[in-house]
Amino acid sequence: MIASDLRSGVERLGDMIAEAKTIVPFTGAGISTECGIPDFRSPGGIWTRYRPIQFDEFVASQEARDESWRRRFAMEEVFAAAKPGRGHRALASLYRAGKIPALITQNIDNLHQASGFATEHVIELHGNTTYARCIGCGKAYQLDWVKRRFDEEGAAPNCTVCDEPVKTATISFGQMMPDDEMQRATELSQHCDLFIAIGSSLVVWPAAGFPMMAKNCGARLVIINREPTDQDDIADLVIRHDIGEALGPFVGN
Ligand code: NAD
Repeated sequence: MIASDLRSGVERLGDMIAEAKTIVPFTGAGISTECGIPDFRSPGGIWTRYRPIQFDEFVASQEARDESWRRRFAMEEVFAAAKPGRGHRALASLYRAGKIPALITQNIDNLHQASGFATEHVIELHGNTTYARCIGCGKAYQLDWVKRRFDEEGAAPNCTVCDEPVKTATISFGQMMPDDEMQRATELSQHCDLFIAIGSSLVVWPAAGFPMMAKNCGARLVIINREPTDQDDIADLVIRHDIGEALGPFVGN
């Protein structure tokens, strides 16, 4: 059911939150646009400017790795300056109140952790761009280290231990989804009574399967997104408005 206006949507969401015992949020890039981080698919979004670099290209080509790191460094000012928005803060309030055991996110910006979620309660389906890892042995690196080596050598560095390429700790197109995170997200989706999809176009699979899975397992499904999604038809409530406006009233102390 699509809320006729923002106010009635917020009221209905408030009732559903009050009635729920276990809420699982599922977030996408739209929750972070008010923090200054562009999403992928909106006008001006990242895909309207860059062609994505597939994982096999990154592995095969030094040029692709250099380009991928140049793009990441170009975004650093934006990522470093971003602070949690109203959506992040509202979810953190419900987490502190014991309503949310953990959340599932497609985002890579670390803003849920910055808003107060413990790291182990943020299930990152697509990884995290605020640090890097060797794609061979998994050794973690700070971005500062990568930048220094890139500047010294004029090229993206390899791992100091196994000499395999170092990549942001994100999951690229064509890269395997992380097993543990997929498993935990499945369990959360199957064992909640309210599932709230926030700021996702729900077109990236397999992540987009979780709202549907929660609904099929008996949860109520709420979708908050300013554009229609393919799963609006199965949702119990659709709030087609700005996320900060819709979730702002739930920011607590
Ligand atoms: P997407 O770009 O496909 O969709 C974002 C959706 O949010 C769009 O439908 C847009 O209309 C909506 N939206 C944007 N701002 C909004 C606002 N203020 N209020 C209401 N709706 C708003 O993003 P997605 O579904 O998360 O796509 C998946 C991929 O995007 C993920 O793999 C993720 O890793 C990546 N991504 C992450 C970030 C981030 O970490 N902040 C940024 C860009 C892309």
